[in-house]
Order: sequence, then structure tokens, then C-alpha cells
Amino acid sequence: HLCQIAPLKDQEGNVEYWISSAIEIQKMKEEEKRKEDFLKLVSHELKTPVTSIKGYIQLLQSMLGEETEENKVVKPYLNRIEGQIERLIRLISEMLDLSRIEQNEMELKLEKFLLNDLVEEIIEDFSYTNKNLRVELNHYCECNVSADKDRIGQVIVNLITNAIKYSGDDKRIEVRVFHPDRNHVGVGVKDFGIGISDKDKKLVFNRFFRVPSQNEETYSGFGIGLYLSKQIIHRHHGEIFVNSEPGKGSEFIFTLPLEQN
Ligand code: ADP
Repeated sequence: HLCQIAPLKDQEGNVEYWISSAIEIQKMKEEEKRKEDFLKLVSHELKTPVTSIKGYIQLLQSMLGEETEENKVVKPYLNRIEGQIERLIRLISEMLDLSRIEQNEMELKLEKFLLNDLVEEIIEDFSYTNKNLRVELNHYCECNVSADKDRIGQVIVNLITNAIKYSGDDKRIEVRVFHPDRNHVGVGVKDFGIGISDKDKKLVFNRFFRVPSQNEETYSGFGIGLYLSKQIIHRHHGEIFVNSEPGKGSEFIFTLPLEQN
């Protein structure tokens, strides 16, 4: 099949535009839509069985009870299965969010709340489950926003998860809530980990992008989190970006319009 799409080049021979017939573009859009529908269907279908498997694993864990020789052998295996299932659940929910965003189906439930409280709550949860994590939290303002609390929470969780993941052994993180200017509030999540090169800084917010030199085994992930975070922040009319130096660490910052009191 001859594809009716052709490059339009400038004087040096670089491709400036691609031209194509309206029919061809329509076909490509339909193809893209079919792919997105498929992804959504698969994620939906996977969610129920995987969630129920997790339930059964937890049931088995609670049934183990006494520290018998047999139980001592079984327990670590169950914990590992649970870890892998959690990874699958995370992937499925990221894929579902991805298709919601792409198909413009992510509804924001706006409410007014104090951003400082949300940040504090999330850090408490992290500190509870990561015993060797050290977080320094600085509030430079008490800032109200009108936003979707769950979605903004998801962004903060993403940034802190990454800060921990790409930190090596030094699990030290600095979080700040501040005024980047009079009309906005900013949240910064700073780590002292592996950092990101200038070239990759532009790419980390792209869908499915992962810094290639990093060992996939060391840092598991799907390259969806930062893309989703960017979409969520943009839908709130905010910005998200990163300052980073390889080997020294990174600070991811997002801003949101301030809700006037
Ligand atoms: P992933 O699931 O791969 O972590 P993300 O979308 O959250 O996906 O991040 C995309 C990529 O950006 C990561 O694979 C990693 O290479 C890089 N990255 C993200 N956060 C950090 C960080 N705090 N320090 C260094 N690299 C990071």
C-alpha cells in the first residue's frame, strides 16, 4: 500500500513539514484511536483479576500466622509476589490514566484547599513506609489552591517516588512550598541523586521516555509518570520543569495559580 504522505523540504534539504491528504490523516487518526481503545480495554480487563490476586495474596499472608519452618520459607515468596503484583497494578493504573488523558476523559474535581497540608500528609505517608528516608520540608508560604486534590497528590507522589528511586543510598530529600511570583505557588522536590543531563532534561516529560544509560534493572519504571504529571499540571494552568546537574541531583518544580483568599 502506497502511503500518501510526503516530506516538504527547505533549501538545505531538511524536512520542514509533512504533507498528506485529508483521507490519509483521517485514516491515521482512526488507527490511533483504535490503538488507544485497545490499550484502555486491556487495562480495564486486567485491573479486576490483578486486584483480586492481590487480595488473595494478602489473605494467604495473614493466614500464615505462626513462625513454623514451612511458613518461614513461604513468606518471602509471598512478599515477592505481592511486590510484583503491586508493580503490575501501578502499570495498569498509569495506562488507564494515560488513555483518560489522551482521550480527554480526565475530569478534574476542583476544590479549594491548603497545598501545604497535602504536601505534609504525603510526606508523612512516605516517612512511615520508608524508614531510612530523610525529608526536610520548608513552607515559605501558606498557599491555597483551587485544584483536583487527588490529581495534584498524584503528581507530588510521583515526584517524591522518583526522588527516592533515583537517589542511590543517600535518601535525603528537600521539599519546599514557595511563591515563585505573586500569582502562583510552587512545590519543589529536590534530591541529591544521579541527576539528569541537559539533553535529557528536555525529554523526561515525554511519554515513555526513560534515560537510556540508566540500568533498567536498577530503576524499574515505565516512563509514564512524568508525562502524566505534566498533563495534570498543564490542565491546571501550571508549569512543571526540572533543574538538575548530573551526579549532584535534581529539583523538580511545579507551579499552580494561587487561589486568592
Ligand atoms: P519512570 O517510571 O521511568 O521513573 P518517569 O516518567 O517518572 O518514569 O520518569 C522518566 C525518566 O526520567 C526516568 O526513567 C528517569 O530516567 C528520569 N528521572 C525522573 N526523575 C528523576 C530524578 N529525580 N533523578 C534522575 N532522573 C530522573
